[in-house]
This record gives sequence, C-alpha cells and structure tokens, in this order.
Amino acid sequence: MALYRTEGIVLKTRNLGEADRIVTLFSPAKGKVRAVARGARRPRSRFVSATQMFAHADFLVFSGKSLDSISQVEVKTSFPRLHDDLTKLAFASYAVELLDAMVEEGAGGEAGQGDEGGQGSGEVFGLLLSYLHALSGGRDPEMTTRAFEIKLASILGYRPVLDSCARCGAADRGGEVGFDPEAGGLVCAGCLGRSPGAVRLSRGTVELLKRLSDLDFERISRLGAGPGARSEMERAMRAHLDYRLDRKLQSLEFLAAVKAAPGGGR
Ligand SMILES: [Zn+2]
Repeated sequence: MALYRTEGIVLKTRNLGEADRIVTLFSPAKGKVRAVARGARRPRSRFVSATQMFAHADFLVFSGKSLDSISQVEVKTSFPRLHDDLTKLAFASYAVELLDAMVEEGAGGEAGQGDEGGQGSGEVFGLLLSYLHALSGGRDPEMTTRAFEIKLASILGYRPVLDSCARCGAADRGGEVGFDPEAGGLVCAGCLGRSPGAVRLSRGTVELLKRLSDLDFERISRLGAGPGARSEMERAMRAHLDYRLDRKLQSLEFLAAVKAAPGGGR
C-alpha cells in the first residue's frame, strides 16, 4: 500500500460501523479526498479533533483499494470558535457543503470544470483556509460568505459577468440591471425582458459584488452593506450557484433558521 502525506481541511464526516468515521478532506494537491479514520469515535482516539468539521491538519494516509485510511495526523487548528457560535457554525457549514457540491472527487490539481486559468485545488484550498480564519476571527459572517461564494465560483470557472451584459455583451453604463443566473451575470435593461429569472439589482449592489470578487476578506468585512444590498447579493449569488448545482444544499435550512433567530446573521 502506498502512503502519502497531505495537508487538508475536513469538509464532511460520516460515521462508519461502531467506532470509525469517514472524512472528506480538501487537500491543496489532491482536491477532495475521502478516507476512513479507524476508531475515531472512541473518546481517547488520537483522531477525535482531526475528524471534526473544518479541522485543518497534516494527514498521513494509506491509499487502499476501495478506501484510503488515515494513519497519522497532526492538527494545526480545529477552529473552536466556529463550533461555539451558531451563526459562525451555520455559515461555515454552508461554505464547506457548497465547496463539496461544486468540486468533483479526484479532481486533483485541476479544480472544477471550465477552469480557464489552470488554477487548481491549491487556490481553492487557500480560499477556504483564509475564509475559515476570517469567519473565526470575527469578520462579518454574511459578507465574508458572499465573498467566499463569488471567489470560489470564479476559481472554478463560473465567475459572474459584472462589467457588461451577459446576454448582449453591451458594456454596463450604469443603468437599470438585473442578475440572470442562466446568462451567468448582469443583464442590461434591454435584455431584462428576455430574462424572466433575473434578480433586480440596485447600482450599489452591483458595485458591492465587484468588490467582493476583488478585495480580501478583511477589507470586505468593513464595506458596511445595508440590509437591502445584502438581500439582493444573497438572492443573486443563490440563483447563480443553484443554477450550477445539481442538488439543494442541506445546510441552507440551518442557515435560514439561524438568521431568523433574534440577533442571528449579524
Ligand atoms: Zn443586454
């Protein structure tokens, strides 16, 4: 059996048998990796903290015929603040489920379909790690997560078109616009009539979406978007991503419940 070493972040865990746990990791070199951690559900197991959601660790893995198996692990951080705060937990759970749904298993160094720039899973890994640190460090969870969505989509080849009409190609001149998931971005006033599924966007929201794609998480957290713009951004990105996903994400219900609770989704 071959042994390999990889850094990884836990995207998903599932119980197996009496005491084992199967984890899906995201590795900068290998993309999505599934491996079993034997005995991980026993209280004294050395795998307990390394097999929690979001754990960032160095893994030593045996590659098996059907399933890889974790042999050793060294945890870098388990992001305890993401587990202690329901709002952060809900946003982080959504982000890792989104990544899991958008990236094929075994995609290796080339993350996703339609990847034009040749950027691979290393870039996706870096994005996820900086997102989890930003969220854990108290950055605005909603804006940080919107930025994660748009940056992830861009790396995977689904960057929304924001500076021209995604239908007719006319440059955006600041007039009335919508966001059309089918066309993959902004649509001009002239094309809105042919985009029944479009989300109407105010000018401020268009500018914010551009910034989410360009700025780092710390600066995004300080943008100070109002509730109207937040709602428009959320609807536009939800439509953009759902159009490209083949299943509904389970974590969205948890996220909606947390946001609806008093003081939720700050
Ligand atoms: Zn147009």
